Amino acid sequence: MINKKTIQKHTTVIYTFILIEILLFIILTSESYLSHILHNFWITYAVSTIIIALILVRYSMDVKTKNENRDLNLVNQKLKSIIDSQNSLIVIVDDETMIEVNAKVLEFFGFSSLEEMQKYNQCKSICERFVRHKDYFHLGLVKESSNWIECLKSLPEKEQVVNMIGKDMEAKAFQTKVSKYDSNNNSIITFSDITDIIIEQKLLEHKAQHDKLTNIYNRQKIDEVLTKICQFSSRRKEEVSIIMFDIDHFKNINDTYGHDVGDEILINLTSLIKNKIRDEDIFGRWGGEEFILIMRHANLEDAYNKAERLKISIQENAPIGLPKITASFGVSTLEKSDTPKTLLKRADIALYNAKYSGRNCVVKNEASISLPS
Ligand code: GH3
Ligand code: MG
Ligand code: MG
Repeated sequence: MINKKTIQKHTTVIYTFILIEILLFIILTSESYLSHILHNFWITYAVSTIIIALILVRYSMDVKTKNENRDLNLVNQKLKSIIDSQNSLIVIVDDETMIEVNAKVLEFFGFSSLEEMQKYNQCKSICERFVRHKDYFHLGLVKESSNWIECLKSLPEKEQVVNMIGKDMEAKAFQTKVSKYDSNNNSIITFSDITDIIIEQKLLEHKAQHDKLTNIYNRQKIDEVLTKICQFSSRRKEEVSIIMFDIDHFKNINDTYGHDVGDEILINLTSLIKNKIRDEDIFGRWGGEEFILIMRHANLEDAYNKAERLKISIQENAPIGLPKITASFGVSTLEKSDTPKTLLKRADIALYNAKYSGRNCVVKNEASISLPS
């Protein structure tokens, strides 16, 4: 692009050239010392003209290159200040290596320059900072021969989220956006902080899945989990059993000691059970004073034995200051033809039979069990 300054420079060069030419002509035609030593006027004049022209062309080219460089620097500075003013972390990568980062990146990680970040942190690529966590994209999900940027881009938008720890050791969640800006492997990656949104989402999710009083899974979540487990286990022919249990005469406890004591008993019972089950067991409040335990890789006998142990624990572990309680248990195991509904129904019938048999006992669901008339 030719601007005003460039035209001015060129005009100056042309004027200088004309001026030198006139001076040269005057010198060569005058009877000076120089004209004496030069025998052929026109040859001398032509050679001098060419030399001067070459010098001036070279000079104007230098000026042009300098101007172009200065313009390029100005553009670069403008671009840098634009990316620095953004609220997101912006990284420009050549293939996978960072070649430019904005001020927010340096501020987040606590460095004063990209060079410092790469030197002290031994971090050539931003992906080395991604925390390995199951809820986020990280290097562990990238096959050895693959490019992590391509891998990240191929995910659905809501999974293009990474977690990084900043200079203050606080983990933050970032929504990423990868844009290629040329035909090579150069990309601009934007990281927008969505930590607050994720926290809010997780809180809402937790609220929707957990019982407010005891903070264990609620009935809705248990229903979802049981459906998934039943499908999965039927396909794989894995054993799954469930234990349903209900506090005996809980109404009397509420009536005698008050509702607050009743609540405290429910909370205490929940922590007692949580301490007695395996990590893979899923425990929830089915409603009121009724609870459910889903046991994977457990047959009817395993679940029955577990229920027996839990019954004794409840009976023997009344917390100080709270009345003793007992519970009745119904156990069933997943059969080939079962749906979650039929599996639950059989545990419920077994629990009903446990109540009918005098309470504080375990009944396992078997074909012979029938509802009392
Ligand atoms: P059963 O041995 O036959 O189970 O007798 P029960 O008294 O335990 O059963 P019933 O269904 O007659 O009464 C259940 C009681 O549980 C009544 C209800 O107020 C109480 N309950 C349910 N949810 C809560 C709760 O969140 N807190 C308290 N304190 N009580 C609850
Ligand atoms: Mg009860
Ligand atoms: Mg009940």
